Order: sequence, then structure tokens, then C-alpha cells
Amino acid sequence: MKMIFLGPPGAGKGTLADLAVEERKLPHISTGDLFRAAVKNETELGLKVKGILASGGLVPDDLTIALVKERLSAPDAASGWILDGFPRTIPQAEALEALAPADRVVNFEVADEVVVGRLSTRRVCRACGKIYNTKTMPPKKEGVCDACGGEVYTRDDDKEASIRTRLENYRRQTAPLIQWYGARGKLLTIDGVGDPKVVLERFNKALA
Ligand code: AMP
Repeated sequence: MKMIFLGPPGAGKGTLADLAVEERKLPHISTGDLFRAAVKNETELGLKVKGILASGGLVPDDLTIALVKERLSAPDAASGWILDGFPRTIPQAEALEALAPADRVVNFEVADEVVVGRLSTRRVCRACGKIYNTKTMPPKKEGVCDACGGEVYTRDDDKEASIRTRLENYRRQTAPLIQWYGARGKLLTIDGVGDPKVVLERFNKALA
């Protein structure tokens, strides 16, 4: 199964993808994680996108599409995947349709005020990318990842100014994809508010 997770930043796409891939044995491909790894490793791509990520802007389509093309050509992505954070623009969606069309697009609906609350309390492991929340899902030991012992930190773009920019970008550039995929009969919309396990149940029911 080839699936896209759509929704505003903080909709819970990454958290849900982590839970869903465990059950479905698919790779979880997050373009945000791929860009953050490039920044951390100071690759050529990483140096190009570092400032864009920190400000909450979108990386240009050509760079993003090239990155996804490369990742989807890896052997583990041959029979299916969950794409989290891609596509984010219509040209990206068109490129993906030409490359490897998704079977389903899951749209997680979450109101802006919930998103802002979640992002300002979100924390992430710098080493393995596991997602935490200081209020609802804190690590057992503050600042230390339960899964790998890595440092749990606040993403640069989870700070107030970047959160607003990201939400604006989402409404302007990404939300039109809801209609785009709806018109192609691929869209499933799920209420993304609530405990991740409850949202996972809604997701499994919708796909059944
Ligand atoms: P995310 O972890 O999905 O919130 O992504 C973090 C950041 O990576 C975004 O704010 C963008 O700067 C960049 N990014 C991730 N995916 C894309 C994409 N599909 N198109 C453009 N930029 C992206």
C-alpha cells in the first residue's frame, strides 16, 4: 500500500506514521526527517536548506522532488510506503503521480489552535527522530530519548515565529491538495484530535 499523510504541521502525521508502520511493515518516509538529517550531516543539500528549515519556509520543489525520487528508488520502498510531509505543493503531487502514484491519501484534520498548542510543546530526539510532547507524551527522563538515549530537543521551527509561517504556508500551498486528491478519489479524512492510539483506531477503521 502506498499512502500519503496530509495535514497541517502538528496534525500528528509523524506520530501516527510511526504507529502505523509498526503494524503494516512499511517504511515511514518523512521529507522533514530527510532534510534534518542532511542539515545535521552538513551535506551539500543540508547547507542549501538549513536556513529555509529554520524559518519555516518550504524547500524548492526541484530539490524536494529529487530527494523523494532517490528515496523511493531504494529497495525497501518497492512495495509500499507512508509518505509524511510530501507532497506539500501541487507540482510535487504531479511529480509523484508520474513517479509512483499513491493508493490512498489520509488527511488529518486538526484546528489551528490545537496545532499551535501541540507544536509549542513538541520535542524530538535529535538522534532517532522519535516524537515527544512535554504535556501529553514526555520522555521518561527529561531531555533523554526513551528509545535510543539521544538528546530530546525543541526543533528550531517549533518556535513561535516559525510556527505561524508554517501554518500560513500550509493553508496557501498544501491545503489545496485536499481537493486535488479528493477529485482523484483517493482521499480519506480523519479527525486528528485526541490520543494517538484513538486516532490510530480511526485510521485503521477508515482503511478497513
Ligand atoms: P516537517 O518535519 O514535515 O514539518 O518538515 C520540516 C521542514 O522541512 C518544513 O518546514 C520544510 O522547510 C521542509 N520540508 C519538508 N517536506 C517538504 C516538502 N514536501 N516541500 C518543501 N519543504 C519541505
